[in-house]
Amino acid sequence: MDNIITKSQINDAVEETYNLFMGVKDGKNADYIPYLANIPSDLFGISIVLEDGTVISCGATDYKFGIESISKVPTALLVMRQSGSKELLEKIGADATGLPFNSICAIILENDHPSTPLVNAGAISACSMVKPVGKSDQKWAEIMQNINELTASDITLIDELYKSESETNYNNRAIAWLLKNFSRIYDDPDMALDLYTRQCSLAVTTKDLAVMGSTIAFAGFNPVSKKQIFDPEYAIKTTSLIATVGFYQNTGDWMYSCGIPAKTGVGGGVMGIVPGVMGIAAFSPPLDEAGNSVRAQLAIKHIANKLNINIYNQAKIKIEL
Ligand code: GLU
Repeated sequence: MDNIITKSQINDAVEETYNLFMGVKDGKNADYIPYLANIPSDLFGISIVLEDGTVISCGATDYKFGIESISKVPTALLVMRQSGSKELLEKIGADATGLPFNSICAIILENDHPSTPLVNAGAISACSMVKPVGKSDQKWAEIMQNINELTASDITLIDELYKSESETNYNNRAIAWLLKNFSRIYDDPDMALDLYTRQCSLAVTTKDLAVMGSTIAFAGFNPVSKKQIFDPEYAIKTTSLIATVGFYQNTGDWMYSCGIPAKTGVGGGVMGIVPGVMGIAAFSPPLDEAGNSVRAQLAIKHIANKLNINIYNQAKIKIEL
């Protein structure tokens, strides 16, 4: 039987979810990046974007926070847009590592591939693949244009976060040079690392993330700008990458209990994709042990269950627009 959902049901689900989890105090801000440790922990926001461009939001949805690892998604897409999905698979891979996002062991265990563009190693490698090779400023311009197109917004850098992360990213420096050792960096390693660090320091709102999620959910069509941004094939590939490793070593648990492919960042954001139905995003800084926002997870899971939009469910979902 079809699952027909109205906009007012979505509104109610978002408000109920916000009120239910607003008071949750579990988790802890990321503190290995000093800037993130100081973001107010009580911030909490949820946004949903539908096919007709409707935005449903509750809470701190205008607050600009560090995109962090969610930036790995647009750059994976940019690499596909520039070089095709086959090249991404061959040069980086599309496998889960089963290990933490910044794992060095994962690179040594799989010295053939950095595994996936959605962990640090693969994301640094993806930054090295962005064209034009050798030209940092032009590569950065491509990264920015791509993310602006995906979010229908004018995304800016949080200078303080970029500085904070650049000064303390010793582990990522090791990753960049280890990848160079395995010939999995396709440009200057320091340049690739710097681009990666900069893209992690971009400021986004939950609305920006929900718009980007919806552009992937609607096969490359951005419902807010009403523009076709990329080839529909890349939406399928990107969603599969996210479903495989969006929550790092906890991805299986997440997909089992929620059923919405989603990508997290240590800034506290989570961006989810329900193909053909919606983009959904939530934000709250305190994280669990694996580096995933506690309240954002609770929120997306609750909405998924309430609206019955698990992607593995057989029912055909129809939103009354
Ligand atoms: N910039 C962060 C790092 O490289 C991103 C990690 C994340 O959000 O999972 O450590």
